[in-house]
Amino acid sequence: MCGSGLPSDQFLRSRLTHRPPNRSLIMKIAFFSTKPYDQASFQAANAAHGHEFVFFEPRLTRKTVALAENFPVVCVFINDELNAETLRAIAHTGTKVIALRCAGFNNVDLKTADELGFTVVRVPAYSPYAVAEHAVGLILTLNRKLYRAYNRVRDDNFELNGLLGFDIHGKTVGVVGTGKIGVCFAKIIQGFGAKLLAYDVYENPDCLELGAAYVPLDALLAQSDIISLHCPLLPATYHLIDANSLHSVKPGAMLVNTSRGGLVDTRAVIDALKSGQLGYFGADVYEEEEALFFQDHSDRIIQDETFQLLQSFPNVVITAHQAFFTREALTNIAETTLSNIADIAAGRSCPNTLKSQD
Ligand code: NAD
Repeated sequence: MCGSGLPSDQFLRSRLTHRPPNRSLIMKIAFFSTKPYDQASFQAANAAHGHEFVFFEPRLTRKTVALAENFPVVCVFINDELNAETLRAIAHTGTKVIALRCAGFNNVDLKTADELGFTVVRVPAYSPYAVAEHAVGLILTLNRKLYRAYNRVRDDNFELNGLLGFDIHGKTVGVVGTGKIGVCFAKIIQGFGAKLLAYDVYENPDCLELGAAYVPLDALLAQSDIISLHCPLLPATYHLIDANSLHSVKPGAMLVNTSRGGLVDTRAVIDALKSGQLGYFGADVYEEEEALFFQDHSDRIIQDETFQLLQSFPNVVITAHQAFFTREALTNIAETTLSNIADIAAGRSCPNTLKSQD
C-alpha cells in the first residue's frame, strides 16, 4: 500500500499475478516428448494457472500409454503417436483432453478421437515468423554454401572455389501453401526483389497483395528457381513432391521443406539430386524423423540408409525440426496450450479445438 491509503499500482499488480488459482480449474497434465526447454517455458507460463505437471521424456505411443494413466490431460508434440490404438488405450486410463503443443495435427487420428469423446486442442499459430525465417536461412545456407565456408575458414582455407552462389534478386520463388507461414515467407522473399509464384487450394489476399501470382502446381514447379513448401500434411498433400512432380521442376532448382517430411518422397528427391534435376535440397523435416530427431545419435550407427544417403550430398542441408525453435515461439506455445486447457477446465468453448472434419 502507498502512503495515501490507496493500493499502489505495484501492489495491485502483485495481487493480480499472485492470485491463488481456482483449485477446481487445476488440471493434472502429463507432458510427453519433453526437453528441458519445454519444461522451462511451461513452468513459466504456469504461474498464471497452477496446474500439476509431470514431464516425461518418452514419446506417447502404444508402448508408453501406461505413463498417461490417471492424467485427464496429455500434452503432446509432433512425433507422439495418437493413432487409434494409442487413443483407445488412453481413453481407458482416464484421459479426456489431448493438448497438442504444435500447429500440425497429422499425428492424431481425429476421427477416432471424436468417437472416443476426446477434446483435442492445438496451437494454430505461435510464430509463423520463426518457421518462415528458418526457411530463408536454409535457402541462404544452401545458396551461399555457408556450411562449407564456415568449415573452410576454421581450417585456415580461404579459397572461394566451390562457394559460388546466385543472386536471389530477380529469381522466381514458388510458395506452396500460402497460409500464415507461407505469407510470412513470401513477405521476406519480396524483400529480396524476387518474383513470387504461389500455389494453394485457396488464394490468400495477403499473398496477392505482395504481388504473387497463383498458378497450378506444375507451372510453379516448372518456373521457380526456389520452391518452398508450407502446406500441411494431409492425404491430398502426401508425397506432393514425388518422382512425377520432380520431372516438372526447373533443372537445377532448389527445394526447401520446413513443413512436414511426408510432403516429399525422399527417395525421389535423392534420384533428382543424383541426376542434377534438383540442384539443392534443404529440409527441416523428414518423413521418418520420429526415429532420429530430437535425440543425440552421435555415438550410434544410424540404420536409416535413405537418411544417410541424403546427408552425403554436398548440396543438401538438413536441420532437425528446429524451424519453430525461437524464444518467442516457445513462450507462445506454452501460454496458448495452457489457455486452451483453462478454457476446457472452465467449460468454455475453446477456439483451438480440432474436430475430425479439420
Ligand atoms: P496454415 O493453415 O496457416 O496454412 C496452410 C496453407 O496450406 C493454407 O493456406 C491451406 O489452404 C494450404 N493447403 C491446404 N491443403 C493444400 C493443398 N492440398 N495444396 C496446397 N496448399 C494447401 O498453416 P501454417 O501455420 O502456415 O503452417 C503450415 C505448416 O507448417 C503446418 O501444417 C506444419 O506442418 C508446418 N510447420 C512446421 C514447423 C517446423 O518447425 N518445421 C512449425 C510449424 C508448422
